[in-house]
Amino acid sequence: MELDLGPQYSEFRAEMRSWISANAPAGLEGLANWGWQPVAGGRQGAQRLKAMEDPIYQEWEARLSDARLICATWPEQYGGRGWDAVRFAVFSEELRRHGVPIVRRGMGETLVGPAIIVHGTPEQKAYFLPRIVAGVDVYCQGYSEPDHGSDLGAVETRGVVDGDELVIHGQKVWTSGAQRANMIFVLCRTDPDAPKHRGLSYVLVPFSPDNGVTVRPLRQITGAAEFCEDFFEGSRAPLFNVIGGLNNGWAPAMTTLGFERGGNATTAHLGFEQELWDLIRVAQKNGKSRDPLTRQRLAWAYTHVQLMRFAGLRLLASLAGGKEPGPEASISKLFWSEYHKSFGEIALDVIGPRAMVRPDGDGYATDEWQDVFLSSRAGTIYSGTSQIQKNIVGERALGLPKEPQR
Ligand SMILES: Cc1cc2nc3c(=O)[nH]c(=O)nc-3n(C[C@H](O)[C@H](O)[C@H](O)COP(=O)(O)OP(=O)(O)OC[C@H]3O[C@@H](n4cnc5c(N)ncnc54)[C@H](O)[C@@H]3O)c2cc1C
Repeated sequence: MELDLGPQYSEFRAEMRSWISANAPAGLEGLANWGWQPVAGGRQGAQRLKAMEDPIYQEWEARLSDARLICATWPEQYGGRGWDAVRFAVFSEELRRHGVPIVRRGMGETLVGPAIIVHGTPEQKAYFLPRIVAGVDVYCQGYSEPDHGSDLGAVETRGVVDGDELVIHGQKVWTSGAQRANMIFVLCRTDPDAPKHRGLSYVLVPFSPDNGVTVRPLRQITGAAEFCEDFFEGSRAPLFNVIGGLNNGWAPAMTTLGFERGGNATTAHLGFEQELWDLIRVAQKNGKSRDPLTRQRLAWAYTHVQLMRFAGLRLLASLAGGKEPGPEASISKLFWSEYHKSFGEIALDVIGPRAMVRPDGDGYATDEWQDVFLSSRAGTIYSGTSQIQKNIVGERALGLPKEPQR
């Protein structure tokens, strides 16, 4: 099913459809299961990472890059096409239709870039954005610390000004994709005497051992070690790399979180929809589709995917009106992550007892449904836990009284 967005976008859809048909290299579709919601680790995660090293994928990346389709919503002077959110949603749908991926090397394209666009100086935009588009800078996210995840405003990693540089000491944790990144955006404390949210800076730090950074992988329940803990011992970044101004890091940090929670909400249902229909096909094959309880649960899942779609359309309307994602981003994040956790449980019940047995294979092999079950549990934690999203929805969307301070 595709978004019906009126006649002005049908021509654009047709143009994108034929561009993808003409440019997607043969064999790209079969390199990985691009249609499902990405999962960390497991067979699917490993398959995607391997696929990204394939020359076919790299050819695709080059063609998207030449056509300015990697960060197409960014302004033209920084390597984008200046698309609105509606065009991006249509493009995403067409990619799914062809079974081919959007190219994302790290978190620059989705999380840092939008914060630089909103809070960066013209010089910072001109320097950092084209490097993300070109894949020169590949970012990971340095927010969480061992004692500060939900309570992000209390981070303790220190940034001290030394001449025209910031010197960073501290530890970050749960850093996804750290092994592939050469830059990290770090939220650090630059004024320990200021009230907690006012003494923070958002700084782009070269992420390498040469710059005093040590990275240690952490193993997840999927068997993968997709995230890491990182230690900063005198790591340096020019003051030019501070986005939003010194001690004003909370504003870009919140912009990033808004995009992290709601940035793909307009099209997120597409991956869940494909996953659901694939599960329905499994149920039809193994006879579970005749079981009334299974049918009821699959219908529940279908309804939820449709609700996601309509919520996405509502968000699309506000993004198309030039607004940044607000508290509604938390509603969407809460909804899809809790849905996906339940869907993972339904999937294993549809598979039946076989779901309790891991397939043969190297390391901690899992099949695609076990991947969904295991990794969907992380969805209710990263980008802010479900409890935190409920607090935001209660306080900022519904105007309920604030949570009492400890
Ligand atoms: C797969 C995965 C990838 C991740 N990737 C990254 C990354 O790339 N970069 C990064 O910086 N971080 C990343 N994280 C970390 C993630 O952002 C944190 O785990 C998350 O914010 C929760 O913080 P915490 O783990 O410290 O839990 P805590 O904050 O200690 O929370 C523990 C429990 O207490 C609850 N709780 C805490 N405060 C409140 C409150 N005020 N009201 C109600 N309940 C509360 C929480 O909901 C949770 O259930 C990732 C996490 C996962 C699982």
